[in-house]
Amino acid sequence: MPAAPAYRPEPRFFDLGADYGDAVEAAAFPENRLRFRNDRAAATVGLETLTDAEWVAYFGRFEPLPGQPGPVAMRYHGHQFRTYNPDLGDGRGFLAAQVRADDGRLLDLGTKGSGTTPWSRGGDGRLTLKGGVREVLAAEMLEALGVPTSRAFSLIETGEELQRGDEPSPTRSAVLVRLSYSHVRFGTFQRAAYIGRPDMIEALVEHARSLYHRDVTAGDTPGFLRAVVEASARLAARWVAAGFVHGVLNTDNLNVTGESFDYGPWRFLPHYEPGFTAAYFDQFGLYAFARQPEAVFWALTQLGGALKTVADAEPLTDALNGFGPAYIRELRTAFAARLGVVSLGEAADQRLLDTTLALLRQGGEALRWEPLFHDWFGGFASSARALGGPRGKLYQGEAFDAFRLALFEHEPDRPERLEHPVFAAAGPEEMLIDEVEAIWAAIDDGDDWRPFHDKVARVRRAGEAWRLSGG
Ligand code: AMP
Ligand code: MG
Ligand code: MG
Repeated sequence: MPAAPAYRPEPRFFDLGADYGDAVEAAAFPENRLRFRNDRAAATVGLETLTDAEWVAYFGRFEPLPGQPGPVAMRYHGHQFRTYNPDLGDGRGFLAAQVRADDGRLLDLGTKGSGTTPWSRGGDGRLTLKGGVREVLAAEMLEALGVPTSRAFSLIETGEELQRGDEPSPTRSAVLVRLSYSHVRFGTFQRAAYIGRPDMIEALVEHARSLYHRDVTAGDTPGFLRAVVEASARLAARWVAAGFVHGVLNTDNLNVTGESFDYGPWRFLPHYEPGFTAAYFDQFGLYAFARQPEAVFWALTQLGGALKTVADAEPLTDALNGFGPAYIRELRTAFAARLGVVSLGEAADQRLLDTTLALLRQGGEALRWEPLFHDWFGGFASSARALGGPRGKLYQGEAFDAFRLALFEHEPDRPERLEHPVFAAAGPEEMLIDEVEAIWAAIDDGDDWRPFHDKVARVRRAGEAWRLSGG
């Protein structure tokens, strides 16, 4: 099999040795029904030529891919809602493979729902089909919106009946494979500190530095923290600009490359609402929309605490203090990118950020998050389209005038994108809960997968029109 030269196995996690993970086996599932294969992503790692039967063998039955040592459940701890839990670790997933992608970066294939491991703590090791469908939709939408994100690679329905307290039971089962540049979490470092192994922290820093933060000099632990702080600030800013609420920003759900992953109870904001909370079990709104930067910063301080066992506190504190300035800088960049305009420097970009947020705030429920960015993509040049469109009457008043004045300063970034049919004919591509539930209902009630596949196609098309991922 993959004779394709673009398939380049490189299982580097195993360089770390035996203290970081446990060899495990995938569950034997009664069925393997291929529901989603991400050929666009597969093409970046030389796996798009697999037949469906081969795909199912590798990503449903987990027959070993060539050049890979076999599944490893990663060990980690973490703070869950600010309470330390030393019993975490991959409880229903594993690192299945590592490959060199076409962009030259190392990429992990990680699973969710592939069976129990030593870290399952009495859980069933399984993923609901609904959870798998939701993870695909979240990852596709975030990628389209220019958020650094893991990508859903494969979703296979596995024919089991799962009992879940928060879903009508029984519910269908699935196994997901995701691509992420790294699955080394803040909690991976926390575990090494907790068990009193500074040697492991040093090895982890060097591992992550040499593979993912190559600009940092070997041995520069504060420099490594600074790189993680920068990447995490960028991630938090991109979530906010996307109107995304992750839902569970525990320290085992944040990684060293600053990509978001592990999409459970996520939501996209319907409209401006700082306290919007995604997870029903987040009673105090700890991970509410506007508190996400603070949550990421708190998690970074825990990473810094673990690193303090191998480096001086002061330069680590300096690195952490870089979060605020990096976040606000990234937020300016993210809003300019979402509005499809060229960054004009700090002062003008800040005016654009402030007036956009003020307009969204003043617009209330009528002015939805995603449609605003759809209407005004391209900046002032989109005035006729936005004002003449279905939401035209929302664009008036003082907050709007200030917004349009700030937009007027900025040149459109690649104006040819405005000719894209997505802006002429199609409406904004939202990812709101009612539509997600309807997509799931079509699958669960009638095994009708068309709304799901249509949605993925539309989100991708919108993403091509926006092409935001660069900035
Ligand atoms: P999460 O909130 O999804 O990040 O999961 C937190 C921890 O619980 C991780 O260690 C997971 O591996 C574990 N976990 C979640 N669901 C299950 C399950 N159904 N069976 C076993 N472990 C699970
Ligand atoms: Mg997790
Ligand atoms: Mg999870």
